[in-house]
Amino acid sequence: MAHVKHQKWWGWGEEGVFFNYENKPAFAPFVKEAIGVTLRPRERDTVDFSTANVPASQAPDKILELLGNISGADNVSTDDELRVVHWAGKSVLELLQTLRNDFHRIPDVVIYPGTEDEVAALMRAAVEHDLVLIPFGGGSSISRSLQPDPSEDRCIVSVDLGRLNKVLEIDETSGLATIQAGVLGPDMEEQLNARGWTLGHFPDSFTYSTLGGWAATRSSGMQSDKYGDIADIIRGLRMVRATGTVVLRPLPSTSTGPSLREMIIGSEGRLGIITELTVHVHRLPEKHQVIAYMYPTWQQALTAVRQFTEAEIPLAFARVSDAHETAFSLATQKEPTSTKGKLAAKGQEALWAVMRKRGWDTDDMCISYVCFEGSPKNVEARKKAVSSIAKKNGAIVLGSGPGALYDQKKFDTPYLRDFLLEQNTVGDVSETAAPWSKLTTVHKAVYDAAERAYAALGKKGWIMSHMSHSYHSGACLYFTFGYVYNDENPYEEYHTVKSAIQQAFIDNGGTLSHHHGVGLEHQPWMEQDISPEGADIMRALFTSTDPGNNLNPGKVI
Ligand code: FAD
Repeated sequence: MAHVKHQKWWGWGEEGVFFNYENKPAFAPFVKEAIGVTLRPRERDTVDFSTANVPASQAPDKILELLGNISGADNVSTDDELRVVHWAGKSVLELLQTLRNDFHRIPDVVIYPGTEDEVAALMRAAVEHDLVLIPFGGGSSISRSLQPDPSEDRCIVSVDLGRLNKVLEIDETSGLATIQAGVLGPDMEEQLNARGWTLGHFPDSFTYSTLGGWAATRSSGMQSDKYGDIADIIRGLRMVRATGTVVLRPLPSTSTGPSLREMIIGSEGRLGIITELTVHVHRLPEKHQVIAYMYPTWQQALTAVRQFTEAEIPLAFARVSDAHETAFSLATQKEPTSTKGKLAAKGQEALWAVMRKRGWDTDDMCISYVCFEGSPKNVEARKKAVSSIAKKNGAIVLGSGPGALYDQKKFDTPYLRDFLLEQNTVGDVSETAAPWSKLTTVHKAVYDAAERAYAALGKKGWIMSHMSHSYHSGACLYFTFGYVYNDENPYEEYHTVKSAIQQAFIDNGGTLSHHHGVGLEHQPWMEQDISPEGADIMRALFTSTDPGNNLNPGKVI
């Protein structure tokens, strides 16, 4: 069988890695106060696969033989666990469905093509034999863009691109790399770093997502302020269809009509399978430093970040947590064990005293992290410029200690959701982007909408947010929400809260998602987001280019 790394069948990331709260003394009291739940110690390190009640594969023998002829029998599998790994992404709803054995329709077979020719043969076979093909990258989708239609009665093939995992070429003069689509973030960075380059694209899901998946969902990494969203990073690509391969050469810019490249980016497998991409790469920065700042209020923090953009200070990221998220971050701090850690904790107490002396209400304060990259001289100049604006907006500079801690923990948070589910608690996220002039309104409207949804469900719920990914005209607001779920109707409850938040985005000038894509989860808001006429154009595109509805049917629109 193809040697491709997969996530846990029942949760995020790799087996043996999980969230622990025992070493975080403030965490359990915080959760008790926030949503009224008394945390139990973690009981499970894994979930035994024998507890899963997996629907049998419906792949006919002749299709298995055909797929074996395309990629080799070793690269085709009907194994139950592999089919479950490939049936969904990692949204909380999908994790709940998986843990509760609510598999409706799952892929009948998984295939691991090793070349673009194999992908092309697979595409032709899909049309000829009326198969459903669902491309699979890292399986980190959070908008249900992998789940098959429950009523699908055709044979469903999950096409795992994991064997297409090489950096093929670096054009050092142009700062472009040609890379296969199935490469996972860390494997790609390792290959690029070995030659002194980086893509600079680091979504929170970096460890378990792929370049092709980022392209297919219009992803954005935490350092997008410097490197751009994936849509800015991709210059050229190859996408295989049953009738041929779309080849978009890497061009710095072009005026060839409506952008086919833009149309393919975000197509979630509905237009074809992306096999190769040519992307911007950058020399590894000489210096990378994250500095933390504390602001007295959310409004002052937002104003400061907008002013960094106005002043055109080149930053890798500038992120601000609102007061709730700041309280949450402080509650997840580890108990200091070393002398250095204890000294830092003492320093923190002294800092609190300074803040109170300045008249701050510590319940309102907001932590911010700013990342600087470049030559040591440029980093120092930018730090000075940021510090000056931050201080004018009332901030205290906390320094590089908390910043370094943030940098180390940045890929750990996805594990928290699995721990919370074990405690009958939902913890999930929803994000949007809106113009600067509307950010405060969207923020407040989402809080109000979530509170109304919790009240309707008779629950004590939690909501927190941060602002990240700045642009000339606005930024992304990222919300995390949590509550104890009811075993009787967890899906309806989830939809009540999530829908309230999504609708508040649209009603107040935000988009349905800044970087998580559409999938099935965000589809109900598509017409409101891009207008009914715009939605018609998109439907027409998918129906005319895939008349048999063989390519990841039902996603996006
Ligand atoms: P998959 O989940 O495997 O697939 C996603 C979609 O792309 C599917 O429709 C699939 O069919 C299609 N697809 C995959 N590969 C191809 C291909 N080669 N050709 C055609 N179609 C293809 N996203 C961000 O942008 N930024 C974040 O910070 C971020 N944080 C996250 C944190 C968590 C905890 C989770 C669960 C998700 C997060 N996401 C984030 C969402 C997710 O990681 C992205 O949508 C990511 O781009 C998906 O990549 P993947 O390789 O895992 O794709």
